[in-house]
Amino acid sequence: MLTFVPVSLGEGRAVTCERCHGGSPTPVYRDSAQIAGDIETAVRSGAAAPGPNIELTGPEPFGHPELPAIVGMAVRSGVSRLRLHTDASAFVVPANAAGSVAAGVRHVRFSVFGGTPGVHDVLVACPGALAETLEGVRSYVAAAATQEALVHVSALVPVCRHNVRDLPAVVATATGAGAAAVLLRVEDGGLDLRAAIEWVTAACDTGTVNGVRVEVEGVPPCLMPDHVLHLADVVRARAGAKAPACAECALDCVCGGGPAGAAADTLAALRAPADAGALAGRMRVARGMAPS
Ligand code: SF4
Repeated sequence: MLTFVPVSLGEGRAVTCERCHGGSPTPVYRDSAQIAGDIETAVRSGAAAPGPNIELTGPEPFGHPELPAIVGMAVRSGVSRLRLHTDASAFVVPANAAGSVAAGVRHVRFSVFGGTPGVHDVLVACPGALAETLEGVRSYVAAAATQEALVHVSALVPVCRHNVRDLPAVVATATGAGAAAVLLRVEDGGLDLRAAIEWVTAACDTGTVNGVRVEVEGVPPCLMPDHVLHLADVVRARAGAKAPACAECALDCVCGGGPAGAAADTLAALRAPADAGALAGRMRVARGMAPS
């Protein structure tokens, strides 16, 4: 599995759920020299082998006035894979899409909250946002095809109580636009995870039907034992987050316990499944870990 070292372009996020966060703060971009220093550090560390792989993240990258210089510097510094985390709307301008591909951006991750404007546009409080994002993704993919460049496009779906029932639709929409992988990241500690599981697993199955891998971050294995191979490595471990039932769980080697910020009734419901040992074995193999 490829790992990307995040390099922040500043304070803020490309897209946020307005209902969860109550409005997006004005982005504050870092100086390009500071960003260059972080990229150099990541390249020298070798922590992301096979790589080094860098993701420019934080606020919308196309809002940074020096983005072309930053991309050029990253490519020259020896980054193997450079990913932009964006809302993709800037790619609607053909010059941005073609220029990004030509500059060496081969990986794009776009954020999307819903499969329809009725969910996505409402949650980001921006009419027309979903259409722009999807058009931007298609524009980037088309630019890559024109330049005969191999690119990888993935979607990030921040999961909260406001979009959980739309997850199968958002996976279908993202893959329809060109996403080759989808990451569902549970970000809402107040979400009833047990009730959410049927939507999360349906979204995984939607990806399978469409030939696209769906990965889930923030759900422990005991809550979706039939879909453990969809779980991301990161289970949002938090000191003290484990419920007493976790204390001697056979899945400790692959699970950090309940998600950060999970509600008390969710933590209380965590129980090591009867076949935890077998599940742990499958997950260790999937992650290339030595058998326990
Ligand atoms: S019981 Fe705890 S450690 Fe075991 S899988 Fe569930 S959350 Fe993870």
